[in-house]
Amino acid sequence: MDSCASNGLMPLEAAQQLLQEAVTALNSTENILLEQALDRVLACDLQAGFNVPGYDNSAMDGYALRAGDLTQQQNLSLIGKAMAGRPFAGKVSQGQCVRIMTGAAIPDGADCVIMQERCSAEGEQVRFHERAEVHNNIRFAGEDIAAGSCILQQGKRLSPVDIGLIASVGVAEVKVYRRLKVALFSTGDELQLPGTALAKGCIYDSNRYVVAAMLARLGADVLNLGVIPDDPARLEQVFIEAAASCDAIVSSGGVSVGEADYTKDILNKIGQVNFWKIAIKPGKPFAFGSIGKALFFGLPGNPVAATVTFHQLVTPTLRALAGEQNLTSLSLPARTQTTLRKQPGRTDFQRGIVSRDGNGGLIVNDTGEQGSGILSSVSKANCYIKIPRESGNIAAGETVETIPFDKWLA
Ligand code: AMP
Ligand code: MG
Repeated sequence: MDSCASNGLMPLEAAQQLLQEAVTALNSTENILLEQALDRVLACDLQAGFNVPGYDNSAMDGYALRAGDLTQQQNLSLIGKAMAGRPFAGKVSQGQCVRIMTGAAIPDGADCVIMQERCSAEGEQVRFHERAEVHNNIRFAGEDIAAGSCILQQGKRLSPVDIGLIASVGVAEVKVYRRLKVALFSTGDELQLPGTALAKGCIYDSNRYVVAAMLARLGADVLNLGVIPDDPARLEQVFIEAAASCDAIVSSGGVSVGEADYTKDILNKIGQVNFWKIAIKPGKPFAFGSIGKALFFGLPGNPVAATVTFHQLVTPTLRALAGEQNLTSLSLPARTQTTLRKQPGRTDFQRGIVSRDGNGGLIVNDTGEQGSGILSSVSKANCYIKIPRESGNIAAGETVETIPFDKWLA
């Protein structure tokens, strides 16, 4: 893979590979209760201690019997009842049946269940209106999970259903990676906090709100250090403080080549710059490096650029640091409804709305003006339209790659 394109920018794929190579999962884990495990990352493979279901049981409310009996007779003698949690103690012999409810263990001797709608009970006799096959309406022991099989693999971020699956094998505690600690701050003399009156020439800090919310979704503990002015001494102090207590640092702004852009120089002085300037649009100035043990991500100041680089570069890296494996995001081909303007040289992440046309095919519309400061273009969107580095304009009707926000294949 070439690490530098002709324009001096690192291709996106090279940057992504360097990021994945730079990161290994945290080596610290904890045992937590299942109730607290949503969205935590499993730190070991989980094996089932026994079969689920644990015993053959009925899939229907009806009668348990021997299927062969109905080849000779239509009426069977009712000898008892099997309920979920209250099995029938006896045995079903020729000419007999047992009333059975969904989830109840199949009584010894019986080999099928007939649903109650297909028969009529008359006192101690049950008349069956149809024949049955052996195994009809039986849920077999181990058909969901076989004893000893791996139900979830290390590196899985636990979904609500995963948590239920763990509960179904009787496990109450799980071993997960500890949460990431991530320091976050914005840089810029022009930045003010929402809720304050805006001074002339100033803007409200929005990047820190976007990134803090995205970090919360990743399950990180965020050390939110607020807005730091463009003062190299103060910035250096904050970098050092953040690195001392966190696994990763995310800053925004000050990473370009302007007079008040100090991030890269400070990173160089007190840590290490791995790369800077990537062939993507928006988001060209993006610094990655480390200070001590902490990874450092310097996002561009422009809000769309900060969002795109966080999504495309920081999120997969932090997920890998958090212990997750199989980090492929979903992408879908869709026909663009509009012409997409593009110059060759950088991989574009335009903002789009993916939907279906009348025939059910996937289509995508861009969200209008695509400037790197236009955060509303991301808010309106539900996907990125990823356009390859060397591509030029794309005509309406062509198929493009769309990446729905926050959809992972694992
Ligand atoms: P910079 O990279 O610091 O030169 O910033 C590039 C552009 O992004 C400038 O227009 C900044 O005012 C704007 N910007 C920087 N940081 C933020 C922020 N935290 N929230 C919103 N806009 C920002
Ligand atoms: Mg700035």
